[in-house]
Amino acid sequence: MLELELYTEGWEEFPKWWVFLENLQFLLYWAVGFVGMYWLQADGLPVVSILYAAFIVVVVGIVLKKHNCATCYYYDKWCHLGWGKLAAKMFERDAGNRKLGMKIANVVYPLIAFGPLAAMVISLILKFRVIVLGCLIVYFFWGILQFAILRKEGCRRCKLRYVCEGSAAKK
Ligand code: SF4
Repeated sequence: MLELELYTEGWEEFPKWWVFLENLQFLLYWAVGFVGMYWLQADGLPVVSILYAAFIVVVVGIVLKKHNCATCYYYDKWCHLGWGKLAAKMFERDAGNRKLGMKIANVVYPLIAFGPLAAMVISLILKFRVIVLGCLIVYFFWGILQFAILRKEGCRRCKLRYVCEGSAAKK
């Protein structure tokens, strides 16, 4: 792990209810994306939704666990998402490369935010469905809520608040 100057008032561990609610929030957000792209099909299979889910599982669930979470102060601790605990079950401490992880995260999270929006617009152009329009609107505003408010709440209480490259609460 990098030598870091920690935010002394940051939480050593986040409460379990926080971890549960934040994970639930992410799962529901991704579920809206999955449903919104469901009708982009090939041979009756929702291939775009399946690729989206697989991408999240592999990149967020494995690659970033190794490069970000296994190299994080919260490795084997209850960070705001509990992913430090998860990473400790999957990888040795410092198994990954934090700089590489940050670079990957900077590409992956915008892709997860904007990719489904573009796919849902295409789906609507191909065939208008109220449910797809509903998912598009919900996914759009949910993404803004995450970026502008929810993300900051975790970072504001994080020990890495002032030193993390991805912090949304440096001030
Ligand atoms: S500052 Fe924010 S992005 Fe960085 S480790 Fe903490 S919660 Fe995660």
